[in-house]
Amino acid sequence: SVPLSFFGGIGGASRAGILVKGSTYLEALADVKTMVFDKTGTITRGTFQVTEIKPADLPAERLLMYAAAAEQHSSHPIAQSILRKAQELHDAPVLTAENVQEIPGHGVSADVDHQHILAGNTRLMESQGIPVSILPAGSGMGTVVYIAVNGVYAGMIEISDEIKEDSATALTLLRRYGLKKFVMLTGDNEQVAERVAGQIGIDEYHASLLPQDKVEILTRLLSQDKTAFVGDGINDAPVLAAADVGIAMGALGSDAAIEAADVVLMKDRLTQIVTAIAIAHKTLRIVR
Ligand code: ADP
Ligand code: MG
Repeated sequence: SVPLSFFGGIGGASRAGILVKGSTYLEALADVKTMVFDKTGTITRGTFQVTEIKPADLPAERLLMYAAAAEQHSSHPIAQSILRKAQELHDAPVLTAENVQEIPGHGVSADVDHQHILAGNTRLMESQGIPVSILPAGSGMGTVVYIAVNGVYAGMIEISDEIKEDSATALTLLRRYGLKKFVMLTGDNEQVAERVAGQIGIDEYHASLLPQDKVEILTRLLSQDKTAFVGDGINDAPVLAAADVGIAMGALGSDAAIEAADVVLMKDRLTQIVTAIAIAHKTLRIVR
């Protein structure tokens, strides 16, 4: 049977806006040594701002309209920022898109205005026959979305994100609770990953990952120590499910993430994890 104090722990957590789906996860939380984070929407706000629009051979406005149309059904923070920018600059409704396909870790493809549009990273371009060698590099400060029209490179949109103000503090506090290793996994590019990891005190990071690469790296870490994964759930439900403890950011997160997670944070801040671990430690001290 479950000791009574576990109910106290779970109740205390829930009053702090932390949903723990059972006493085993409270116990696991108290023992976590390695914590693995998704970057976008987890460490960073996930509210990207368009900082640069660089068309190749068409008006900038046209490039942005194509990208916004192709991205309009995506819930990815990148897509949302492109849509916001398009609506900010032009009052016109977004063009309709057909045959929309979102490819996790790559981007989107869609037919807009009888043109075939691709919007995504170098990997998407390469997979569609556009050589990476012809793609201009970004400034290194942000994430670059390349756009192709009918299989021809048409321009790029650079967007950047901000680190949440409590991310670095959360890591410092978590070390005091005995966490030993912090790892960041991201589908974003190397330069962005290096900068974010350095700024908040991540020990190890892996960039340009596909969703399945994240599962592979997590599996290796799981074999070494008790490991939690923290994500917003966009493209990372499989990693949430695979971890000893899967922690989802609930306010931004998708239904799939909330379903796959063992712990759901109602406020999307990493210091909520410190609270969860403090409650787990307190509960376990009473029980053990
Ligand atoms: P992260 O690990 O940063 O949360 P994701 O796995 O969600 O990243 O996405 C990885 C990369 O795939 C993004 O940095 C971006 O280059 C590309 N990407 C994913 N979804 C989209 C989209 N809807 N539009 C454009 N690019 C996308
Ligand atoms: Mg993500």
